[in-house]
Amino acid sequence: MPDIPFWNKCNNKCVMCTNLPEFAAQEAALYGLKSQIKKLESYLKGLGPVYLKNNDKADFLSLTGGEPTLHPDFFRLLAYFKRRLPGVSITLLSNGRRFADKDFTRRFLNMAGSRLTVAVPLHAASSRVHDKVAGVTGAFRETVGGLENLLAGPEGVFLEIRLVLHRLNIKEFSKTLLFLQKKFPFPGRCRVVVIHYEIEGMSLKNHKSLALRLSDSARVINAAAPLIENFPDLRLYHFPLCLIKNKLRSRCWITLPAEDRIYTKKCEGCKARKKCLGLMMEYYKEFGDAELKTL
Ligand code: SF4
Repeated sequence: MPDIPFWNKCNNKCVMCTNLPEFAAQEAALYGLKSQIKKLESYLKGLGPVYLKNNDKADFLSLTGGEPTLHPDFFRLLAYFKRRLPGVSITLLSNGRRFADKDFTRRFLNMAGSRLTVAVPLHAASSRVHDKVAGVTGAFRETVGGLENLLAGPEGVFLEIRLVLHRLNIKEFSKTLLFLQKKFPFPGRCRVVVIHYEIEGMSLKNHKSLALRLSDSARVINAAAPLIENFPDLRLYHFPLCLIKNKLRSRCWITLPAEDRIYTKKCEGCKARKKCLGLMMEYYKEFGDAELKTL
């Protein structure tokens, strides 16, 4: 299943957002209930390329934005996707702020069911850094409140807390993990995913302030290995295996399509290649491959 942009407006202005402002400027009606239903029905009938990303993936669906929870028909549209896609695992990408509203969250949890994961980025363990990255004062308080509400009941959705690393928050990494360990100690109900930022959309525009080499974020991750061991399901996205210390390599996942990645000359003959992502294409264009070490 593809990535489906559920709603194109957002109440955050994240510095590393992979969307450009042109996306939010599109007419809201393009993402309204009627349009979304028309698009999915066309997709299900195989009527040409309807969505832009991950059209070929069969068993899971990502609902993205903008911020999906701001959709004026959020509950109706979510119920429709669930009904029309039985057996498909759905990940809802959200900044989490709307879930600070307990009534909204209760209604959401009542309908969510076990096939739904909510993925929420947390930029740091303090409002000082998180709000700077999110571009909104008060975002940290609402996002953390939303995470608390989503995990408050005895059941509910599975939660994925995403730490997207770049120059503005890399120094906070260990503090953020400690914060999560203390605040959300629910290994069966949530996981942490650590992601090296992608150079696309606003993160390309803001690249002077965000630029972070993979070797620099890998160094911080490697140094935090003892702390990472406290998170049984912590995953690492977008990292080449040769930069990650041996004991953490099994946590590296390949989640980008082949066209967005590259194996360079350094990867020729590398014994880790089959299980390795290589480099993100846009990263390679910006920084080259000097950091890689053939294994
Ligand atoms: S050299 Fe290339 S294939 Fe080998 S671990 Fe590094 S990035 Fe991966």
